[in-house]
Amino acid sequence: MHPWRPLIFHMCGQRRNTLGRTVFRGSQGRFPGVFYNSVCKTQPAIFPCADLHPMSRSQIELESLIQYLDALLDIPEFPDYPGAMNGLQVEGSRPIRRVGAAVDASLASVHAAVEGKVDLLLVHHGLYWNGARPLTGRLYRRVAPLVQGGVALYSAHLPLDAHPDVGNCAVLTRALGLEPAGRFGSYGDEEIGFRVETDEDREAFRDRVAEASGGGPVRLIEGGPERVKRVGIVTGGGGGFVADAAEAGLDTLLTGEGSHHTYLDAMELGINLLYAGHYATEVWGVRALAGHLREEFGLPWEFFDFPTGM
Ligand SMILES: [Zn+2]
Repeated sequence: MHPWRPLIFHMCGQRRNTLGRTVFRGSQGRFPGVFYNSVCKTQPAIFPCADLHPMSRSQIELESLIQYLDALLDIPEFPDYPGAMNGLQVEGSRPIRRVGAAVDASLASVHAAVEGKVDLLLVHHGLYWNGARPLTGRLYRRVAPLVQGGVALYSAHLPLDAHPDVGNCAVLTRALGLEPAGRFGSYGDEEIGFRVETDEDREAFRDRVAEASGGGPVRLIEGGPERVKRVGIVTGGGGGFVADAAEAGLDTLLTGEGSHHTYLDAMELGINLLYAGHYATEVWGVRALAGHLREEFGLPWEFFDFPTGM
């Protein structure tokens, strides 16, 4: 069992209605073109895990699934960097029966998706960060296998960092055994992170973060008090939020990575700064999202893990 599965249960259980279906913002009942799995529909259970659908025959038309994801994640409205290009990035050629999840739309992930015979690959970092470019070289080598294999690619960046249920920050927070006490970390009109409260030595907190992140190294910059009480969490490259953490009255910022100067920011502004790794803080959202699609539509999924160590 993956260690995060109970967290999915916890998260979904909070939002389950009396019919046993999960209620999400933007979800207006059933979606056209969706073939609902009877096991999912009637299962009063707790949470559908892989074992409930060992031979799942569920499928959903790509267009319907994209509509569902766009609504769930508020894709049209959520602010992001222009290159994020959230939503469907590469169209597929068939209904969705099997889903893959990966942090990056890298060459390795794309090949794993094609070889794994998934119909849709969900990623957090998509293909187009450098804007419109000729479909040549590395970009071509990433896109061509998807097109030739008929695999659709869907990317969700800040909307997936921020989402209150399946977002990177929400799931990481719960993996740490903490409950959000509010939002933190503004991008445009949205806040992409969470504020949490605890009371523990900063080394113990660092160790807990390392354990939740699979044992990877967690760098602690000891700029704040020895006792951690008010923490801001922003997944990915959130080192630039040190000053915001100080302004918000927090004593600690947990994020993935940051620039060199953030050491001085943390030390001079009195903030403990933890760097748990960009990749390690962003494996959560795509997995939770794929798990959510299994729950809603009975689609089996797998995670393609290609850690960057960054
Ligand atoms: Zn990221």
